[in-house]
Amino acid sequence: MSEKIPMLELHAQYLKIKAEVDAALSEVIDGSAFVNGAVVRRFEEALARYLGCKHVVACGNGTDALQISFLSLGLQPGDEVITTPFTFIATAEAAALFGIRPVFVDVDADTFNMDVSQVERAMTDRTRAILPVHLFGQCAEMEPLLEIARRRHLRIIEDACQAIGAEYEFSDGKRRRAGTMGDLGCTSFFPSKNLGCFGDGGALFTNDDELAARARQIANHGTSVKYHHEQLGMNSRLDSLQAAVLEVKLRHLDEYTKARQTAAACYDRLLADCPGIVTPKRSANSTHVYHQYTMKVPAGARDQLRTHLQETGIATAIYYPVPLHLQPAFAYLGYHRGDFPVAEKLADSVLSLPMHTELMEEQQKKICQILAECSPIL
Ligand SMILES: *Cc1c(COP(=O)(O)O)cnc(C)c1O
Repeated sequence: MSEKIPMLELHAQYLKIKAEVDAALSEVIDGSAFVNGAVVRRFEEALARYLGCKHVVACGNGTDALQISFLSLGLQPGDEVITTPFTFIATAEAAALFGIRPVFVDVDADTFNMDVSQVERAMTDRTRAILPVHLFGQCAEMEPLLEIARRRHLRIIEDACQAIGAEYEFSDGKRRRAGTMGDLGCTSFFPSKNLGCFGDGGALFTNDDELAARARQIANHGTSVKYHHEQLGMNSRLDSLQAAVLEVKLRHLDEYTKARQTAAACYDRLLADCPGIVTPKRSANSTHVYHQYTMKVPAGARDQLRTHLQETGIATAIYYPVPLHLQPAFAYLGYHRGDFPVAEKLADSVLSLPMHTELMEEQQKKICQILAECSPIL
């Protein structure tokens, strides 16, 4: 039996920073300020500096960050938010649970991100916001989206849960980090994300003082002064232990990103001549932080390919097998198969390979060798 190659290796990553992390955790435990400790504020400030944005508001998870965004912007039941059907369900679910209607537009077949050319056609007089997702680690086309939003008086909420640290370059050469370009950006610190903690965690980013204050209040039961509630809110806080882990890992984020980019370049090289495999395309205006390395394979061969890799101990994953407009949970939206052909085709043909900070070239060579052996079925 050969060595197994998993999608993720969180333990190996932890061992390299164990001394730093353990010390930070001990300090929190000794201090007993488990919720809203000083370390939470310190981490928020460090992340704001890293991102080059004015405010970071930590919260319970990425889904909450999205919901806090909708509340902070005053979105109401019946309002519409434009997003894509090729994403994790949380993007649209967060809106739908509040009675806000997700309106989908298709994605670009190469970058998997929102097809900006379809956005204006999807607008109605109930449209309030655009919710681009920076899928798999690269930014959606923000410059045209920001232009549409400005012209049509819409808000932009970025789902940056998979793209922390990615940089988008505007036509004037200015570069901005994922999540800091719209009115609000949301991220997740779920353990498997590029900046992951040891449980659930999330945050909102904004350059708007008023939105930051509102988001902070909403994340804590609508209160700024204890037991005085200006509005209804949520119980969504990042606990101090998670903030302590994140404060340590943020110091390593650039090196983690580089490790992912190096691994992606290695896959690109090794798979360049593999028939039937289309390696992920880099968008023209964004860096890619490779939350996932997602390639396209012929739809009819995907299952067989996965099984063969599985038999040799190599894990793969499908993000995402069913586009959101075809999920039973969203049947009430009234969409049908054929409405978003690109997303539907991608759902049948994408395959993600192991991608993490500890991936070794030897492992990648083995994966790609087995993929090459599969070429008769591709
Ligand atoms: C992970 C993720 C979320 C939700 O984050 P949680 O912290 O798991 O709630 C939302 N959107 C996208 C695109 C994600 O990948």
